[in-house]
Amino acid sequence: CGIVGYVGNDKSIEVLMGGLRRLEYRGYDSAGIAVIDDSGAVGTRKKSGKLQELVDELAEHPLGNGRTGIGHTRWATHGGPTDGNAHPHLGDDGKLALIHNGIIENFAELKQELLDEDPDTVFLSETDSEVAALLVGRAYREKRDLAEALRSVVDRLHGAFTLLVMHQDQPGVVVGARRNSPLVIGLGDGENFLGSDVAAFVEHTHRAMEIGQDQLAIITTDSVTVTDFDGNPVVAKEFEVAWDA
Ligand code: GLU
Repeated sequence: CGIVGYVGNDKSIEVLMGGLRRLEYRGYDSAGIAVIDDSGAVGTRKKSGKLQELVDELAEHPLGNGRTGIGHTRWATHGGPTDGNAHPHLGDDGKLALIHNGIIENFAELKQELLDEDPDTVFLSETDSEVAALLVGRAYREKRDLAEALRSVVDRLHGAFTLLVMHQDQPGVVVGARRNSPLVIGLGDGENFLGSDVAAFVEHTHRAMEIGQDQLAIITTDSVTVTDFDGNPVVAKEFEVAWDA
């Protein structure tokens, strides 16, 4: 339902939680974040219920405050509003984290494909989204590049999605993709943002960039790259956010 992504300085949790708070107006039933923590591993906390549940969970089980992270508020479509079904979902043995807005219509078929390939595949949720996490994780093992991995999967997904992914072997990178679902880039100074709408980052920057239909964005602390799903570069249009934060 709501999505925020961040690459920058040692304050990702603060940025993610602030972004999720500003996205609350959209409605949601669960919330979660993943960061690349101080040890270099992907750490995730997620809870059903109000954002406060996640705040309490983080107080009880803190995450190292990394420089890279993604955050999600969920409006359940596949699988009930439980902690396990909340996003982020993991792939590549927990080294990759993914969040998803929308619906992957052909997820049952893709799930079967994963099971046919490896009958021991473990699904920790009932969501359509986890299937995407496992597929991008599998692609990453082969390609060793997050943007390439995501690109190879998105074309196979039917329906509507905004996806954000990060991988602990590529700290300092968040990759996003969109089809029939919104995603915008926020341009900072030594930090960059992704959001399902500008509310996700308006507290930090009013410089934004549009991402078109069937496009993918790669953000690092000091670079922003937009391509189509085939990897061809796209010139994205910058705009000024008119909003008093
Ligand atoms: N279909 C996904 C789920 O049920 C994402 C829902 C959303 O857009 O929040 O988990």
